[in-house]
Amino acid sequence: MKYLSTRGGIEPVSFKAAVMMGLANDGGLLVPETIPDVTPMLGQWAQLSYAELAAAVMQPFADDIEPTVFEALVQRSYQSFSHPDTAPLVPVGGVHILELFHGPTLAFKDIALQFLGELFEHVLCERGEQLNILGATSGDTGSAAIAGVRGKSGIRIFIMFPEGRTSPTQERQMTTVLDDNVFNLSINGSFDDCQNLLKTVFSDLSFKDQYALGAVNSVNWARVLAQVVYYFWSWYQLSQPARFDVAVPTGNFGNIFAGFIAKRMGLPIGKLVLATNANDILARFFDTGVYQRGTVHFSQSPAMDIQVASNFERYLYYQFDQDPIQTSAFMQHFSDQQRAEISAPAGIFDWFVADAVSDVETLQAMNRIHQQYGYLADPHTAVGYLLADRFQEPDVPMVALATAHPAKFEAAVTQALPKVVNTHSVLAGLDRLETRKTAMVSDPEAIKAFIRASC
Ligand SMILES: *Cc1c(COP(=O)(O)O)cnc(C)c1O
Repeated sequence: MKYLSTRGGIEPVSFKAAVMMGLANDGGLLVPETIPDVTPMLGQWAQLSYAELAAAVMQPFADDIEPTVFEALVQRSYQSFSHPDTAPLVPVGGVHILELFHGPTLAFKDIALQFLGELFEHVLCERGEQLNILGATSGDTGSAAIAGVRGKSGIRIFIMFPEGRTSPTQERQMTTVLDDNVFNLSINGSFDDCQNLLKTVFSDLSFKDQYALGAVNSVNWARVLAQVVYYFWSWYQLSQPARFDVAVPTGNFGNIFAGFIAKRMGLPIGKLVLATNANDILARFFDTGVYQRGTVHFSQSPAMDIQVASNFERYLYYQFDQDPIQTSAFMQHFSDQQRAEISAPAGIFDWFVADAVSDVETLQAMNRIHQQYGYLADPHTAVGYLLADRFQEPDVPMVALATAHPAKFEAAVTQALPKVVNTHSVLAGLDRLETRKTAMVSDPEAIKAFIRASC
């Protein structure tokens, strides 16, 4: 399987090269040359465990890794999950909630980042190379990225976060990781300062080259690929209905795009229900065909507070029948005008239904789900659940993806349900653990000096 750029500006590359490249060198996103139709295989996969199914679904996309090696790598990726089903499907009212938060940091990002960490280690070991990951986080992604690569050989990870601006729990999820290859840098500044530091350090190309600097951004193809698996898994858990729909709380369009790939592979998904919070650029797009930048609203579902969705370009590429010229033109127009439009949207556009959910509705939904069914949903999950309920058709099973454990979002849960006990042993235990972080001023030269000294 070869990978191409959505902008058409690179020679086709292998899976391993695509994973190491992250963002395509022409600024586009990497996509597989073809999407295999696995319909004939569906009958054979019914009895597989989660990890076995993951290996089967992903293997055709990763054919430059020997199958037995790949299977072992995938098995290791899901060993860190605490539930025997990895991602259990739980009936709640008329909807089925797929819990994707049983990984080490209690968020669905673990599903992709545990796999990505294993992949990086495999490829680096094979090539005898090293990788220094530099990232900036406002909270959640940092801990999932750290958990993915802690203790892995050939990799160091440097995560910058704004001192005092992440929640104490989020900070402890990062700073209690004491492995030698993990460096938490608490920056005297805002999250924007951290992102600017990241850009400045990456823009020093000779430094980037000399220290083999890499990122774990949400556009890495391997992250999308790992997320395709649980769409298949939920269908088997439902006993293979003729059709089912899936509701997805959406920010950067990575999770729901994986559902799109699953549908292209032949999984009988009917509708993909795209749920946003007040940051509704994607909900507006799937209503009107107009993609227009808004301002960022800070919401009760912060992992979905985005202005532009970094994975959306992959969808556009398929909307334009895999034409890199039209895709590039759309992105260029959007970059110039902050607005671009699909004329007469049809075809795969109709695979999606979308809406935005306000904070008030989110807290109400958390309250109602708990009152009626005794189920505690985190605010992101509640956003998806609300639309799952609204868009469900008679006799069509509906799956709602649960993207975080409620204990990660204590403040919102307390607001929605003041009397409810909301803990998780992993988080409760963090207070007693030793921590390590390095306080740094917001200066790119200081960051570079720190990386140099740590290598
Ligand atoms: C990242 C995240 C999302 C959004 O997923 P995308 O792939 O960016 O659309 C939703 N919920 C939680 C808890 C997340 O961490």
